[in-house]
Amino acid sequence: MSYKPNEALRKFNGESSHYRLWADRMKDHLARSNPYWKVILKNLEMATNPITRDWLIDQFTHGVNAWTLSEKLETFICTWVNDALYSRRSQLAGGESQAGNGFEIWRQLYLEHHGGAEAVKLGGIRRLQEWPRCTSFNQLNQHLGSWLECLERYNSELFNCPSVLRSMILGIIPADYEDEILVKPEVQTYSEIIDFCKRRTTYKKNKALAELARRPPNSRMASLGPHNEPTRTEEAPSEEQMPSWAMKLFKAQGSPPPPMAVGERPAKKIRDDRNEDNLMAATREQRDQKPNGRRAFNLKFRYSGCWHCGEAGHSRKANPAKKILGCSKFEALKARNNGAPPAGYKGAYEKARDIAWDKFSKKKSS
Ligand SMILES: [Zn+2]
Repeated sequence: MSYKPNEALRKFNGESSHYRLWADRMKDHLARSNPYWKVILKNLEMATNPITRDWLIDQFTHGVNAWTLSEKLETFICTWVNDALYSRRSQLAGGESQAGNGFEIWRQLYLEHHGGAEAVKLGGIRRLQEWPRCTSFNQLNQHLGSWLECLERYNSELFNCPSVLRSMILGIIPADYEDEILVKPEVQTYSEIIDFCKRRTTYKKNKALAELARRPPNSRMASLGPHNEPTRTEEAPSEEQMPSWAMKLFKAQGSPPPPMAVGERPAKKIRDDRNEDNLMAATREQRDQKPNGRRAFNLKFRYSGCWHCGEAGHSRKANPAKKILGCSKFEALKARNNGAPPAGYKGAYEKARDIAWDKFSKKKSS
């Protein structure tokens, strides 16, 4: 047994969350002088009854008396625990009559702190269960990142329970993301949900950018005010009105601002210089924002009952914070279907919306 300083060894401070690492380092250190130590210590941890002096005195391992080994271990442990634990050494050994019983001390520390490690783990599970819902898409990536970290650290066994993971993650993303995912049967696993959120967030950010580029500088400034609804105007700003950040953009690209064609809106020009994704987002945005477009229609469509069964008094998805009950029929449907709505699922809300849209578009075309 080596008492030489070892960089990897630190005194155990009695905190269960540090126990595992400390115990492993101790075992490694002891195994360097004799590999059998690891086996002995492992067996001590498995022992269900106290290891007594009387018993040890009659035992020999590899020709060495077990009590002698136990005393050696006691001296070694005492060097690597803090004062509080050191002063408890005879209690840990099993009382005054057992003083010096390092084997029993090792077993006791394991019992006290290995179980404690379980408590730490339980705390991690609680933390994951109480994880707040993210309300801002700007913070979503970070929100999901720290959630994943907690999951990997304390609850990695949850990776084997995809439906639990799914319902957990649906509870922490912004509510409008959740509503979208509930009707997307192709977004199932937690990683598909994360991918969906990332795509959605990128799209939202691009949309905000495109929106900024689309608006003339005056209304852009106005929209920065706290209470001003962004106003949209089709009036083209003059060349002098090109926002300074746009000028910077062109300068950074090493080309002068393109000459203004008659009647062409400078904002459109800026958009052409952006990457394909932005362009797509912008095109989609224009289409979606047509006053008679499907998305605009969906946004305006109001439905008062449960989005799954149509009954009043509860919602498709429970919201404990607002004391809103969930739909038991929807839960039952998911339970029958591995925790997710079946492919092509439509609830009362989607069905009513489809019917209303059909009516609306017929009226429009006639
Ligand atoms: Zn319902």
